[in-house]
Amino acid sequence: MQDRIDIREGLLEGAPEVHLSRRAIITGLACGTVFPFLSGCTTNPATGRRQLLLVNEGQIANMSLAAWSDMKTQIPQSSDRRLRNRVNENWSRIADGAGKGNEDWEVAIFDADTVNAFVMPGNKVGVFRGITELTENDDQLSSVLGHEVGHVTGRHAAERLSVNVASQTALQVGSIAIASQESLRGFGPTLGALGGAAIQFGVVLPYSRNHETEADKLGVDYMHNAGYSVREAPRLWDLMAAQSEGKRPPEIMSTHPDPVNRAAALRQYINDKGYDVV
Ligand SMILES: [Zn+2]
Repeated sequence: MQDRIDIREGLLEGAPEVHLSRRAIITGLACGTVFPFLSGCTTNPATGRRQLLLVNEGQIANMSLAAWSDMKTQIPQSSDRRLRNRVNENWSRIADGAGKGNEDWEVAIFDADTVNAFVMPGNKVGVFRGITELTENDDQLSSVLGHEVGHVTGRHAAERLSVNVASQTALQVGSIAIASQESLRGFGPTLGALGGAAIQFGVVLPYSRNHETEADKLGVDYMHNAGYSVREAPRLWDLMAAQSEGKRPPEIMSTHPDPVNRAAALRQYINDKGYDVV
């Protein structure tokens, strides 16, 4: 069971502790199940999907600022002007495609081989040189950047934090129920640990993978809006699959979907939407 919650959408760990009132948590747990109209449940305008949000992005933006500053002091940023221009220009274009071009963004291009990018609450975007070198063209780069904007419009950081807090509360409630039953008392810690694993693999990780899939699709929408070639999005995931072959954990134990599955899902989405025939 995670005792810390990562609100970065991408790689690495590092997370704030969050304390929420019992009332807010109970309200949240009821979302979409017993009382779908309580506060804590909102419909996301970008996706049309109802979400459990116990906190808003503004509140968690403050929590991630320290982690963002740490990263910038610990990882050198690229001094390659061509690369910086390339990332910044494509960022502006895809942010426009998402209707977010008028917001303030801070984009850091880190000089590291890591094949990844991430976004943090507060409109902080990190792109590693490694992923820019994997991309064959700006369309593929825009699919990486579009995916990151998708995490923002999908409000994934706030939702993941909310679901994680709600899951831990549910687990605690379960442990209390076990502890109060005489015959089960001796098994309390074991059952609690099993419950933790079940939540980790049954709720939190699939939630993460669903967020990745949703961000992939939103990214393609934004590529389409911005006039990029959307067929390059699944092509990028083919390249990712090739370079990560044999290095990934089984999908069920991972926060991210398998690259081969991501490429296939994107091709399906692009065809369904009529953006292109791939
Ligand atoms: Zn992601």
